[in-house]
Amino acid sequence: MSSGERRTVDNGQADHPSRERPGSASSPSVSAVQTLGRLAGNRATTALVQRARDGVTAPTVTADAAAQAINTWIQANEPSEQETNYSVGVARNGDLYISKVGGVTTKTRFVGIDLAAFIRSRGYEIGRDIYLAQQFNTAYSSGNHAEMCVMAAAGAGALAEIYCAAPHCAFCAEQMAKDNVRHGAAVGGHDQVGWAHPFAPIFLGSQVWNDTAVQLRALQALPLNPTQANAAQIGVPWLSTAPKGGKRKAWL
Ligand SMILES: [Zn+2]
Repeated sequence: MSSGERRTVDNGQADHPSRERPGSASSPSVSAVQTLGRLAGNRATTALVQRARDGVTAPTVTADAAAQAINTWIQANEPSEQETNYSVGVARNGDLYISKVGGVTTKTRFVGIDLAAFIRSRGYEIGRDIYLAQQFNTAYSSGNHAEMCVMAAAGAGALAEIYCAAPHCAFCAEQMAKDNVRHGAAVGGHDQVGWAHPFAPIFLGSQVWNDTAVQLRALQALPLNPTQANAAQIGVPWLSTAPKGGKRKAWL
C-alpha cells in the first residue's frame, strides 16, 4: 500500500466523525489529529496521557472508538502488507483483544514496538486491559483465523464486536453470530482452506472435506461450544487436538 493510499484511509475515517468519542466536535478533524500526532510525537493527545499520569484511570475513549482507531491505524501502518490479516475485538467489559491470522505476540516488531507506542500515545490502554490473542490450535496453525484467535482468548460471551480489515469468512461470521458478536467487516465467501474452531477440536475447510458449503451448514447446526456428542450427531469429525484458548495475560 502506498503512502498516498494510506492518506485515503485516514480521510475515510474523517468522513465518519460519529465514530470518534463524543465531545470532539470542536476539536480538529480526525485526520488532522492523526497527522499532528505523527508529525509532532502525538502532541495532540498529550492531554489524555497526562490525565493518566495525574492518576485519572477512567478510559479516555470508548472501547469501540479505540478499537476502530487501532484497526484503522494498523491498516495504514502495517509494513509487511499483512494488514488485512489483523482483527481487533471489543469485549463487553471494555477490554480489547488484538490478533492476526496464526496469532500475534510481542515478538513481532510492528506489534511489540510500533503498535504499542501508538496505543500508549493515545492513552487507549488507560482504564482497560488490552490482550494479544495467540494461536489457539497449534496442530492447525494455518487455520487459526484472527477473529477466532480473539474469540478463543476472550471466551464465549465475552465479546461485543470484532473489527477486521478483510471480510470475515463465512465460518468466522457464523461463529461470531452464534456468540452475538457484531460483524465489524463485511462477510466473505466460505471457501476456506482451513478453519479451526475456537472452543472445540473441530477443523473445517477444503483440506478436510470437499464441500465447504456442507461444512458451513454443519457449523450452523452446532451450538456455540459443541460437545463431542453434538459433533457426532451432525457428522462433524472430532479431532484429537483441542484448542487451548482463554489466555488472560494482559499486554497493555
Ligand atoms: Zn475466518
